[in-house]
Amino acid sequence: MVPLVDIYGSNVFNDQVMRQMLPKEIYKSFRQTIEEGLPLGAQVAEVVASAMKDWAIAKGSTHFTHWFQPLTGITAEKHDSFISPTADGRTMMEFSGKELIKGEPDASSFPSGGLRATFEARGYTAWDCTSPAFVKDGSLCIPTAFASYTGEALDKKTPLLRSMDALNRQALRVLRVLGNKTTKRVVTTVGPEQEYFIIDKKLFDQREDLILTGRTLFGAKPPKGQEMEDHYFGQIKDRILAFMADLDIELWKLGVAAKTKHNEVAPAQHELAVIFTTSNIATDHNQLAMEAMKKIALRHGLVCLLHEKPFAGINGSGKHNNWSMSTNDGQNLLEPGTDPHQNVQFLVFLSAVIKAVDDYADLLRHSAASPGNDHRLGANEAPPAIISIFLGEQLTDILAQIEAGGATKSKAGGIMHLGTASLPSLPKDTTDRNRTSPFAFTGNKFEFRMVGSMQSIAKANFTLNTIVAESLNQFADRLEKAANVDREIAEIILEVIKKNKRVIFNGNNYAEEWVTEAEKRGLPNIRSTVDAIGAIRAEKNIALMEKHGVLSRVEMESRCEIQYEIYIKTINIEALTMVEMSKRQILPAVISFRADLAGSISSILDIDGNADVEKALFNQVSETLKSFSANLAKLEKAVQKASHLHGDTKAQAIAYRDLVFTAMAELRKDADTLETVVDSDYWPMPTYAKLLFNL
Ligand code: ADP
Ligand code: MG
Repeated sequence: MVPLVDIYGSNVFNDQVMRQMLPKEIYKSFRQTIEEGLPLGAQVAEVVASAMKDWAIAKGSTHFTHWFQPLTGITAEKHDSFISPTADGRTMMEFSGKELIKGEPDASSFPSGGLRATFEARGYTAWDCTSPAFVKDGSLCIPTAFASYTGEALDKKTPLLRSMDALNRQALRVLRVLGNKTTKRVVTTVGPEQEYFIIDKKLFDQREDLILTGRTLFGAKPPKGQEMEDHYFGQIKDRILAFMADLDIELWKLGVAAKTKHNEVAPAQHELAVIFTTSNIATDHNQLAMEAMKKIALRHGLVCLLHEKPFAGINGSGKHNNWSMSTNDGQNLLEPGTDPHQNVQFLVFLSAVIKAVDDYADLLRHSAASPGNDHRLGANEAPPAIISIFLGEQLTDILAQIEAGGATKSKAGGIMHLGTASLPSLPKDTTDRNRTSPFAFTGNKFEFRMVGSMQSIAKANFTLNTIVAESLNQFADRLEKAANVDREIAEIILEVIKKNKRVIFNGNNYAEEWVTEAEKRGLPNIRSTVDAIGAIRAEKNIALMEKHGVLSRVEMESRCEIQYEIYIKTINIEALTMVEMSKRQILPAVISFRADLAGSISSILDIDGNADVEKALFNQVSETLKSFSANLAKLEKAVQKASHLHGDTKAQAIAYRDLVFTAMAELRKDADTLETVVDSDYWPMPTYAKLLFNL
């Protein structure tokens, strides 16, 4: 077997490869572009392209592709081969600097939210040299940004890169005032934890809802769910282990630092965590991880479900977005150290985050809004739709001391004794965990837990970066002018505590009382995607994004349109799938069952005279069938109505939520009741019990 150290990164055009393959001067100049954002010379690009091509061909590649992230939520790639025919009928393998830097995919089939008419189809991809190129499935993949002919961003990477620049600018200003003269760049770091479900492919293939929508639209509650709490961290089954082992190898080859894997709370649910890296690379890697999960599961006769809520009544899947800021010389700016009350730099950056999250809660909530995630946020599941911050005991105490006139001590974690000499005494963390908080401080980073499992993490991160950049910008403006910097810092921190402490909540976020309490505090509780989308069109948020050069007004307006459209299309597909499954699978099954039951009743009556049990069942089936059929008609009507509301996408999205989505729930209720009374031989699709416990 090839040792892991040799596998890791073997399909990545990484620093080690570049050092080996590039002439010294070219290598140096290229590193400066990556690390300090200096412009890239044409000659450098030419040499890098040629080295990349040789390296990729040696790895078995025949093609190259500009790999990008349009606003569909998944990645896109168009493959061109390296071949360049010669006059004598042979071919050379070519790849120029120009081809590396710029691509020209037809943009007309990607969502643009009105930014571009179809006749203006030109779009450009531009090489992002800060995320390394890699080889996948016989192609050299070059991470790129994607923009329209007129220069507007049509992807998720562009605003993310812009937001990293914005945060860097403002963080450096603050660091300079604090006396730091050496740091050259501040980057944001991200380590996502990805949740997913795995089910058997044979069962998946029998469910049209899973195939078309990624979630079950019908399905009665199984006799066993997650109540035994026996799945979380449980022993991993062999088939899953084999899949996970393959997945690890595949990801390691791509330089994705897959680190932790375990079973999650729900049956058939699992998690993969990777080691953190820069926001940009982490986002690319998360896309690669999601793609690899789906592909590798198939090799094992399994299907990976990334949807936020594949099964009603069972925990959904999210993505914990661990986030921090770090300097190029290795300091984590959210590291509290042993005496956080004296750690001015930490307190300033912590205050910046608290202020940002409170000032722009609507924008942050919006960053996690999607039709799939609506089944989690604001539904009866974690985390809630209200943005709040968990700080933990130690930091909350320090802030309270500051507010009361000055912090003099940091509560220590202490030592925990386990009551027997054979077990070691353990140093205690300074704070317990809180698994219910949407935005929790976890030692030296914040964990944003609202992101949906299927979503790209780009939006959550460009939002976080930009809102924190804004806090830092306001701090820097004051500090640079201050006569007494220390006093000004103290004042800034105190102001944040006073004004923004309402967003801090260390209690149970799932409790009903929190909803009332949050309302009293004036915190927004935005329960559905349709309501959350509007934040991107709010004047204060447009001003913010434009000020920091992350998104322009037109870019935001177009994104707003696209999100309404995605919502409408998603619910529409789900509703149509329900209608089709109802008419062609459930209705015929129940009708056959009912007819056979009627037959049994008359034969029984011929010989017995008493068929009360059969009749009772017959009546129950008949009643529910009648209601099911009426609700089916209602759903069809609702879809009819909503789909004809052209023109105003917001109004149409509201109609899909209030008419169609609610009609879907009604129809489902009847179907799920029928499932529990109809003979299982007649039921046309695998049940929850099979899907969840069959492996
Ligand atoms: P848990 O399940 O307890 O939250 P995990 O170990 O599964 O913990 O995930 C923690 C994640 O946080 C990992 O992806 C880790 O790399 C990431 N992380 C750690 N430090 C930082 C940091 N400074 N910035 C961003 N992410 C970080
Ligand atoms: Mg976590």
